[in-house]
Amino acid sequence: MDMDTTMTATAPPDLAGLAPVEQDLTKMIGNTPLLRFRSLEPHSGVEIYGKAEWHNPGGSVKDRPALAMIEAGEYSGDLTKDKILIDATSGNTGIAYAMIGAARGYQVKLFMSAAASAERKRILRAYGAELVLTDPAESSDGAIREVRKRYQESPDIYFYPDQYNNPENWRSHFRTTGHEIWQQTEGRVTHFVAGLGTSGTFMGTARRLKCYNEAIQAISMQPDLALHGLEGLKHMGSAIVPGIYDAELADEDMPITTDEAYSMIKRVASEEGVLLGVSGGAALAAVEKVAQQIVAASGASPAVIVTILPDSGERYLSDPFWDELA
Ligand code: PMP
Repeated sequence: MDMDTTMTATAPPDLAGLAPVEQDLTKMIGNTPLLRFRSLEPHSGVEIYGKAEWHNPGGSVKDRPALAMIEAGEYSGDLTKDKILIDATSGNTGIAYAMIGAARGYQVKLFMSAAASAERKRILRAYGAELVLTDPAESSDGAIREVRKRYQESPDIYFYPDQYNNPENWRSHFRTTGHEIWQQTEGRVTHFVAGLGTSGTFMGTARRLKCYNEAIQAISMQPDLALHGLEGLKHMGSAIVPGIYDAELADEDMPITTDEAYSMIKRVASEEGVLLGVSGGAALAAVEKVAQQIVAASGASPAVIVTILPDSGERYLSDPFWDELA
């Protein structure tokens, strides 16, 4: 028997635990790993986890709502191949729309602040999306105003999911992110922390977790000031408030400074080997404060704190805050 025959005659390798062969890119969206951050834990009874959303094929948490909004448009018949998908984005939803649009054959046109990172703009153009860059002084609100104007001028040629007001945004997290966290922690999660942009991640995930156990504490996080560097997040007090946002859902709302986020990113990169995006650094900075509050209030009581890490630091390597490492 020659070598090749021996190889084919042996039993197939055990495929259990291997990722499946996918025919459809969008099937790779969701079901992301939950990663533990031991160096942030005040004692072994307080477990800290972050959901590694950069494992989505478009590199961020926003693949989930983008797919849900596109599929809702396909089911309703509002999205057809002769329409142009338009929306305002801080970048990641745009990347998700552009990726899915390229895979399914839709034209995509995005309105985004000119201040968005160089990496985001290049990725969007690589997927074939058209970009309209808006006044950086108005951040994501400038993009929202521009896209509304453009849509109202000729609504018939566009499909406008309007991620800030589309319930499919938060429902995608209700169906997937919240359920995954419950399963991955085997129902042990006690605190959920997430930053607010459109608020879809926080609203959908917190609602689902509270359905499973209403004692779970939901903590929202947002920039401390109107002018901030937390790309993807909104300062609700000064921004156009998304229609899907309901402040009542949060048990607590925590302000985080841009510097707190930057120093957490650097710390976690060198201590844990995880390169986080800016809003992920802000999320872990908030988690650390929540952990300190738990210890101050109840000493050695156990807790399982989970947050969302929306994207990877590779999307921000051109940001000046890395310059000191040069
Ligand atoms: N972080 C980043 C990097 C984002 O792109 C977004 C989306 N704007 C968020 C956080 C906030 O997510 P959400 O829109 O679901 O509130």
